[in-house]
Amino acid sequence: MSNVLELSQVDAYYGKIQALKGIALSVKQGEIVTLLGSNGAGKSTTLKTISGLVRARNGSIRFMGEEISKLTPHEIVELGIVHVPEGRRIFTSMSVTENLELGAFTKRKDPKFIKRTLEHVFELFPRLKERRNQKAGTFSGGEQQMLAIGRAIMSDPKLLMLDEPSMGLAPIVVQDIMKIIKKINEQGTTVLLVEQNAKAALKLAHTGYVIETGQITMHDRAEKLREDDSIIKAYLAHA
Ligand code: ATP
Repeated sequence: MSNVLELSQVDAYYGKIQALKGIALSVKQGEIVTLLGSNGAGKSTTLKTISGLVRARNGSIRFMGEEISKLTPHEIVELGIVHVPEGRRIFTSMSVTENLELGAFTKRKDPKFIKRTLEHVFELFPRLKERRNQKAGTFSGGEQQMLAIGRAIMSDPKLLMLDEPSMGLAPIVVQDIMKIIKKINEQGTTVLLVEQNAKAALKLAHTGYVIETGQITMHDRAEKLREDDSIIKAYLAHA
């Protein structure tokens, strides 16, 4: 299978602080790839660099064969890379439907697409359909995460990048979210999943990378990583 996304030798900085050091990572068509690491390792920065929110100072980022490291965040979304940031960032004073429609801004000239995709999101998340006219600010953390993912689906991603979707959620809700991510992937969307919850992520993913202080230190199939002693010790023993 061909690589949808390919990073090679990517460096990124915040001022003088180097947050990413020579990151190499690839995501194949149809895969779920997870990026694991502890607090401050550089997981969020990796996603932000791919989506153009942080500039890669060196290296290359290719998406479906095209170099994207110099494009604007808007151009990158248009190509089909959609980023659900940590902390969801939904519009709390707007209704579910309004939040979802905003997600379709790249398709605003195609009302038929918006209508069809809204139906699709409501099929994936019946709970959002039931509450479609309610303000998102009244929602639980799990429902807000569902809305954030639903909003990303509205712009028809080819690559969906999720930053810690399990953060702050009860284990049962984490399971629900992971099931939905699996379903979205089975329906054809490639996924790059950043997680601190290594247990949940490695259950779902096909392939995993470990990042430590801005560098990739491990890369293997998820089932291999699940059995690896250093991973068990560092990320799974207390999960
Ligand atoms: P977390 O799960 O805590 O978000 P992370 O693995 O996503 O961790 P990043 O947020 O990518 O880590 O941070 C990588 C490094 O860059 C850390 O040392 C962090 O302190 C630093 N950093 C992140 N954002 C900024 C910023 N806006 N300005 C300066 N330094 C930053």
